Formats: sequence, C-alpha cells, structure tokens
Amino acid sequence: MSSTIRIGLVLPDVMGTYGDGGNALVLRQRLRMRGYDAEIIDITLADPVPDSFDIYTLGGAEDSAQRLATRHLRKYPGLQQAAAKGAPVLAICAAIQVLGNWYETSAGEKVDGVSLFDVTTAPQDVRAIGEVTTTPLLDGLSAPLTGFENHRGGTTLGPDATPLARVTRGVGNGVGDGTEGVVQGSVIGTYLHGPALARNPELADHLIAKALGIPATELSPLDLPEVTRLRRERLRA
Ligand code: GLN
Repeated sequence: MSSTIRIGLVLPDVMGTYGDGGNALVLRQRLRMRGYDAEIIDITLADPVPDSFDIYTLGGAEDSAQRLATRHLRKYPGLQQAAAKGAPVLAICAAIQVLGNWYETSAGEKVDGVSLFDVTTAPQDVRAIGEVTTTPLLDGLSAPLTGFENHRGGTTLGPDATPLARVTRGVGNGVGDGTEGVVQGSVIGTYLHGPALARNPELADHLIAKALGIPATELSPLDLPEVTRLRRERLRA
C-alpha cells in the first residue's frame, strides 16, 4: 500500500445519480481526521479501471446508465482483480445489480453483470421508495443501519452471497426474504442511499479498517456530534 490511501470512485459520470459519491468523501474525511493521507480518484468511462487502489465505491444509477457501467466494468476488469486481492468495495443499489450475475431492466432486457456477487435482479411490480432500517448481520457491525431506498429491481442471493442485514423497516432486497444488501468476500452491497456512509459511520470504519489491514477496534474513535444527531434523527423518523 502506498502511504496515501487511494479511494477509487467508480464511474461517477454514469453511477452518480443519487449522491452516493458522498461515500468516498466520508471515507476520505474519516481517514484524514485520523492522520492518514487519503485521496479520491474518479474512474470515468474514459478510463480503464485500475486494480491497485486501496478501496472502491460505486453508486446507484438509472437502468440506462447502469448498462453503460456494466459494459465498461466487463471490458476493464480492474475492479474484479482488486476484489480478488481483497480490496474493500462498497456497491450501492444499481451497483449491486451491475456486480451480480445478471439483472433484468424495467424494460425487460436481461444484462450479464460482473459476477462479483452471486446474485440476480429482476424488476418487481412496485417500486421500493422510502426510509429503511436494518439489523446488520456482518461480523463487527452492531448498530442499526439506516438509509433511503429507491429501486424497482429485487435481488435474489445465491449460495455464495450472504445478506448484509435483516430489514426492520422498508423493503431492502425486495424478494420477500427480509434481507438487505449482500456481502461476498471483501465486497459489500447495499440498497441504502443517504449517502450510506454518512448515515452509518460503523460501516465506513469497517471498510477503512479493511483497507488499512487492521481491526476496526484499532481505529481511534471520532466524536462527531452532527453524525450522532443525524443518526438519532433518522432512527426516530
Ligand atoms: N435502476 C435500478 C432499479 O431501479 C437501480 C436504482 C438505483 O440505483 N437507485 O432497481
């Protein structure tokens, strides 16, 4: 790892619709507040995808934009190579679908995905829109996760994927099993916008610790009253 922690913001030009680029800002800020050098590098449709970054984030998108992203990530498999080396990756909403085996768009077109997640996604009758609260199932996370979902796709997990969390409010993966998100190796997916890491600092630190190769308990605690206030407000809402 170079002394600067490099955060790859993957395809913000097509997967930037829902403000999920904020996740990269949260990662950079929490690293800097702890004395680490950190930078965000945008990987756009004009770039091949590097496999050497320390951490990657991908945001949500509309169906047409996520098709462009899928094509690019299949053509330049740097993200897949980075994940195979254990780099932490956070995939939001459409990015779960793109990183899955295949997804079907609202228009009924089936698109082959990147296969980092053993999941498939198909459109549901009703679009899921609203606040979500979940209980995490991932080792090391204990605080409820909150976010805002806005998706028509419903995601089914295969045997190699495990859910990130169990839904206590909202829809989540949306195929009736009460699960939200997906975890496979170092890759974490969630339907939570927010941005998710602004609303869920424990998840941010989980990714940071993985990137640094240390247990999250070794990260110095950050006392950020505005984050505490936001969490309290969202859990009450
Ligand atoms: N287009 C996808 C869906 O509707 C993802 C939307 C999103 O990223 N918010 O399921």
